[in-house]
Order: sequence, then C-alpha cells, then structure tokens
Amino acid sequence: MKFHITTLGCKVNQYESEQAKDLLVSYGHLYTKNIEQATLVIINTCSVTHIADRKSRQQISKALHINEKARIIVTGCTIENKGFDARSIPGLMVLKDNLLKELEQFSSLPQEVPPAETSNKRNIRKMIMIQNGCNYYCSYCIIPYVRSKKYSINPEQIIEKISKSLDSGIKEFVLTGINLGTYDYAEASLLDLLKRIMQIKGEFRLRISSIEPNLVSDEIIEYILENPRIAKHLHIPIQAATDSLLSKMNRKYTIDNYNDLLDKLQNKIVVTTDLIIGFPGETQDDFAQTIRLISSNKFMDFHLFPYSKRVGTKASEITGHISSENMKERMKQALVENVSNRSNYLSCYKGEILEVLVEQEKDGHYYGFSDEYIKVKIQKKGPELIYKFIKVRAYDVFEDTKASGILGEFVELIAFADYK
Ligand code: SF4
Repeated sequence: MKFHITTLGCKVNQYESEQAKDLLVSYGHLYTKNIEQATLVIINTCSVTHIADRKSRQQISKALHINEKARIIVTGCTIENKGFDARSIPGLMVLKDNLLKELEQFSSLPQEVPPAETSNKRNIRKMIMIQNGCNYYCSYCIIPYVRSKKYSINPEQIIEKISKSLDSGIKEFVLTGINLGTYDYAEASLLDLLKRIMQIKGEFRLRISSIEPNLVSDEIIEYILENPRIAKHLHIPIQAATDSLLSKMNRKYTIDNYNDLLDKLQNKIVVTTDLIIGFPGETQDDFAQTIRLISSNKFMDFHLFPYSKRVGTKASEITGHISSENMKERMKQALVENVSNRSNYLSCYKGEILEVLVEQEKDGHYYGFSDEYIKVKIQKKGPELIYKFIKVRAYDVFEDTKASGILGEFVELIAFADYK
C-alpha cells in the first residue's frame, strides 16, 4: 500500500506524523509525496491561527477532490474547532487521538516494493514527544480547548526510543511537547528527564524545543550549561513587549521577569522567541515598545505572528481589535526590523568557533546547524564531513531566500569522548 501524510502546524504534529509514518513503513507500506497515488491519506491539521485552520480545511478538500478512492484520515486540532465539523463531511475518518492504534488495521495489507532509485538522504534528527496538552489558557490560544488534557510520557519509553534511534544513526534529538516545561511523570520533572537522557552513551546532541519563560529554572540553565551534548539554544516565547499586553494575554510572567531570565542566559544560551503583533488593544506605544524589543539584540530571531482571532478564546471577546491595514503595516515594520536584528546578531559570531552537525551536502557545500541553532554553510573541501559533528570558524553572514546563516570554514572534528 502507498500512503501519504500532510502535516500542518507545530512540532507535536510533526512528531505524531513521523510516528504514523514509521509505523506504516514498518508494516512494509511505502510513503508517497503524491496524494493521487496514495491508498491511504492522513491529514494532521492545525488550528493555531485562522490561516492554519483554513489551510487544514483546504488540504482536506484537496484530498477529497483529487483522490476519491483513497481512505482519508483527518486528525489534529482543526477537528475540534468551533465552526468546522469535519465529522459531518462524508468520506472522512476523523480521529481525535489513537491514530497509531487505528493504523494497526493496515498491518496485514499487502506490502509495497520500493522503486529502485529511492532517495538515500539520511534523516539524522528526530523529534521525541515527551508531553502533550496544556492548561495555561493563554487568552489568544485555542490549544487547551482542542488538545487532550495535559499528560507526560513515561521516561522509560523516552529512553528506549532515543537508544533505539541512536542505533539507527540518529544524531540529534529534539524534545517536543505542547508545554514541555510542565513535564512531570510520577515525580520526574523535566530536569530529571534531562539527567536520565544524559546517562545514555553515544554521539548525539539534545535540543529542548519551545519552553515557557516561567518554567526555565536556574537548575535547568545550570544543567544545560554543564552538558556539552545539550544545545545552547532555547526558544522561549515572550509574545508581547509590555506588561499590559502580557496581562491581557493571561501570560504567567512580566517583562521584568523575562528580562531577569535573559540576564541569566546572555552570552551563554542563545534565545529565539515568538511575538504576537496586533493583539487586541495594542496601542501605538505598545507597538513602539515591540519594535524596541526586536532591535534590542537580545534575541537571535523572532517568530512573528499577526494576532489571529480564534472563536471560543477569551481574547476573541476583548474589544479594540486592530484593523487589517494597521495589522499589515505593523507586521511589515516588525519583519523588516527582525531581518536587520538577525543579521546584526549573527555578525557578532564572525571569528567565533561554532559546533555544527553537518546534515546536507548540496552544490559544493555542506550545510548544518550549530549548537545555537544557526544555519551554517561550509565550502566542501578536505575530509568527508557529512553527518559528522565538527568545529567551524565563522567568517561571514549569508542571506538566502529561505534563511540567513553563517558562512564558516572547517576546523576539526569534535571528539565526543571529551564530552563524557
Ligand atoms: S502555553 Fe499558552 S500559548 Fe502555549 S499552548 Fe499553552 S495556552 Fe497555548
């Protein structure tokens, strides 16, 4: 059987789709990028903004239109969203959870023989979901209403998954969750989990994806700093630049709290963040403060989101919604400011040594990500470096259509024995 998976949204969705793909491949089925060729189509939807919702619905219609014969399974956040009832659409199987269980029925279907020229591109990064759900109820966010209740995964399962993946050549693990800082499994905290993972021997790097600012404890910072195998990068959503907006958003910290955290991390752990533009009631002064925050050179990068009204959330009832012209103008300014912020930030690395995992070889260059999650481009010459951890000297910044990063030259391989 051939199957196709369309994934929208966050790292948790990506993780769940990856799990589904692994399971179907283990049954001998073949993944195809073409929906037309698939007997089974899975659409893992996202509802974080109205645009994500729309895209999810478009993907469902597309699948129904272009492959009438396929079995179509829809899962993810959009199915629980008000105003859209996927269950009423004929021809869809709608699943809130238990996707893997449902896929077990495909274990006995005939296997597909892979074509001779399958890609030899190796996957060296794996997401590991450690937690799901959130009960923070930020006023703009639909997730607590559409995801399952908060729960954490048994550390034994996490350790087993990482150990097995190491055997199959994975070199970087990314811990993901909807609110992963709230991880707690039978008294084991996120810090305990990190300690367990660091007991696993092997050549790998561990990343913590997004973590809420109030959950980055001094102990976690200290532990990250003393473990070379844990990446020195954290994505810590700030969401707003003023206390009045943070309070309307029902966030759990003030700007002073966040600045205290940045002071502890400065020059040790690189921070990227999320920022919402045009939250209801955002004044010109608030926005001026937003622009100052972006240009403060404290963050390597901002993921900028125009506020999106989600029916059913508290923020959708707040008055003072920003007009679409105003929103466009503010987004434009913020994006321009962030391009120059990122470039200034990266410029500071010129002459520095970065630790890079090389993951791709293209057009005479190696590409990889540094510990700080900076994209690094290295001219291909000298020893074979693909899938290796190396030290690189940064000498310039590059910009391309998709991303900016650092140009670097190879210095030496990293000796992992030194990391124990
Ligand atoms: S922390 Fe806030 S923004 Fe993040 S998932 Fe929970 S409610 Fe949503």
